[in-house]
Amino acid sequence: MDCLFCKIAAGEIPSAKVYEDEQVLAFKDIEPQAPFHVLIIPKEHIASAGEITPENSGIVAHIFEVAATLAKEHKLADGFRVVTNCGEQAGQTVQHLHFHMLAGRNLGWPPG
Ligand code: 5GP
Ligand code: ZN
Repeated sequence: MDCLFCKIAAGEIPSAKVYEDEQVLAFKDIEPQAPFHVLIIPKEHIASAGEITPENSGIVAHIFEVAATLAKEHKLADGFRVVTNCGEQAGQTVQHLHFHMLAGRNLGWPPG
């Protein structure tokens, strides 16, 4: 399958890794939108949040455990945001489930 994040997960395309285990990979976004901007992805190909099912939803809980661990490791006590864009109107550009983890500046709400 021709999927950028599958290739990054497989190590075929290099990334700046911040966390890895058997199920997930976290790496720095190539175009950071905040001082801390990491993408957390399942190694398994899931196209988007719209494809979460009872069979694969466990990975989402695990991803949030990883986010909490990263927040402690990187001392993000002032706050952070975890967000996933699903579909065209939300601005999803890579069709492999990924959670943006952003921190290090006032992020504002609502998002643009
Ligand atoms: P989306 O727009 O789908 O929510 O998020 C895709 C994200 O992937 C964007 O923030 C973009 O900067 C990032 N991205 C796209 N290609 C690459 C890449 O090759 N390496 C890394 N590290 N990030 C990428
Ligand atoms: Zn993929």
